[in-house]
Amino acid sequence: MPEHDVLIIGAGLAGQRAALAAVQAKASVAILSKVHPVRSHSVAAAGGINAAISIDDDWRSHAYDTVKGSDYLGDQDAIEVMCSEAPKEVMHLEHIGVTFHRNERGELDLRAFGGASMKRTAYVADITGQAILHVLYEQLLKHHAQLDRYEEWFVTSLLQDDGGCCCGAIARDIRTGRMEAFAAKSVILACGGAGQVYRPTTNALIVTGDGIAQAYRLGAPLMDMEMVQYHPTTLVENGLLITEGARGEGAILLNSEGERFMERYAPNKLELASRDVVSRAEQTEILEGRGVGADKAGIYLDITKVPRKRTLEALREIVNIGRDFAGVDITREPIMIRPGQHYMMGGVKTDVNGATPIDGLYAAGEVACVSVHGGNRLGANSLLDTLIFGRRAGEHAAARGSSMPMPKTPSHARVLEDVARIDEVLAREKGGGRRVSEIKQELGDTMNRHVAVYRDEAGLTEARSVVQRLRQEARSAYVDDRGTVFNQDVLGALELDYMLDCAEAIVAAAIERKESRGAQFRTDHPQRDDEKWLKHIDITRGQDGPQISYSEVTITQWQPEERRY
Ligand SMILES: Cc1cc2nc3c(=O)[nH]c(=O)nc-3n(C[C@H](O)[C@H](O)[C@H](O)COP(=O)(O)OP(=O)(O)OC[C@H]3O[C@@H](n4cnc5c(N)ncnc54)[C@H](O)[C@@H]3O)c2cc1C
Repeated sequence: MPEHDVLIIGAGLAGQRAALAAVQAKASVAILSKVHPVRSHSVAAAGGINAAISIDDDWRSHAYDTVKGSDYLGDQDAIEVMCSEAPKEVMHLEHIGVTFHRNERGELDLRAFGGASMKRTAYVADITGQAILHVLYEQLLKHHAQLDRYEEWFVTSLLQDDGGCCCGAIARDIRTGRMEAFAAKSVILACGGAGQVYRPTTNALIVTGDGIAQAYRLGAPLMDMEMVQYHPTTLVENGLLITEGARGEGAILLNSEGERFMERYAPNKLELASRDVVSRAEQTEILEGRGVGADKAGIYLDITKVPRKRTLEALREIVNIGRDFAGVDITREPIMIRPGQHYMMGGVKTDVNGATPIDGLYAAGEVACVSVHGGNRLGANSLLDTLIFGRRAGEHAAARGSSMPMPKTPSHARVLEDVARIDEVLAREKGGGRRVSEIKQELGDTMNRHVAVYRDEAGLTEARSVVQRLRQEARSAYVDDRGTVFNQDVLGALELDYMLDCAEAIVAAAIERKESRGAQFRTDHPQRDDEKWLKHIDITRGQDGPQISYSEVTITQWQPEERRY
């Protein structure tokens, strides 16, 4: 059985940054990923990464913007850590080889992004995530003596010892179907978000909330789960993302009357107000009949305002996306977009070192909730979050391991339990229930109908009962592939189970929060209510489903104020 000081599950930016920090701290590390690392969703990150590196900027201004963006639900101590460490992290990336865009003076160029009081977003055209992910992958190659990689291994569950500490994981080698237990002194979850709970979403098919659900099943609390970000500019046809970088470069939003409607909703920041504000404005225009397109369900994003040369240089991926997925040349005509699911602000509750309340279990990146994003994440703050807290989790897990023995090896019986779980799925009769894909679709459609930009009690209650029914149906859902080699079908059934856990937690928290804050807008409780609801909702798994408790929001220097853009 493989034994390591630190076992990292997930090889996106959070996982790879954690791995780099842990090997540099001399730990023995394994990194596991269900896809090849550079195919993690981080590779799709387009617009950039925030850091106060300009000489006239200050990390406190970045922190204030983040606090305000979070609608005062973000924990200010964690936000201070993230923003104050950001410049050093971005310079570190630049020094290890990330080719950030430079201006005519040869300095790192910065672009405008939503909710930011100045230009603060460093970028590599609109492939920033790809550029960083590849550099980290390459850097890790240097450390092969200390780092074992398990690429295309699917973690099925986390292991706990008799004292309740997390001491490893069970995983399936996707190539062969073989199951194995991994022992570790510490485990870092870096499994990304849960966007696939919604349909459509900007997230890759692999983003199915596995880590959130696995931690939840172990007893870890989830926090801020009701806060699900809808990005203002996703393609009407299929939900693909058009980066906020487009608006950062000067693109504008228009309704069917040709009106630049953001003038009414956010007179100062216009299209660069925070994402929750812009998405709500678009949805209101659509609901009031001023949408564009055949069924008036879209809004025009006009990128022709950006000089063509600049678009071709700095936004070249979305030129391709517009052409290939909507048949539109964005340098010459507006493109139809609408708000679409994009990001989970919530996740596994951690402290600023990535530690969860379960000994030995850390989480970083989108799977985690520190909480630096609170009710709404600012664009380009997620890449930053993955790197800062990935690094910190890697350092802390390595330090923890240096002073303890290897925990008792998890028993073989636990592996057999997971083997049996998979065998049970494979043994289900064809036609004896619904297909996994059908249930997944209904889940995604339901969440997108009732747990979206606007929510109310009736819709949320309906969503809860659909999720409960789907959970029953998932028990008999069958798969077509019964083989062992690259059986993605059976893994799809496990992922569906994880997604249902996430959906249940999201809906429970959204029903609980009877106010409007950040991404949660309740039409039946349209005001923010600091007196009752300036607190986090924590969810743990109880016998009869999600159990709710609350935790304090940490306020250091910025008292809640009315939010205006
Ligand atoms: C289209 C798009 C554009 C974006 N643009 C930006 C941007 O410009 N700026 C910004 O700040 N943010 C952006 N974001 C958000 C940001 O990219 C993500 O939040 C961030 O990259 C998540 O990184 P991560 O390391 O936490 O997870 P991911 O990159 O999603 O990686 C998750 C890893 O976990 C592994 N994994 C998951 N489950 C299992 C399992 N069961 N077993 C084994 N391995 C598993 C996966 O294989 C993968 O390696 C964007 C997001 C999207 C979808």
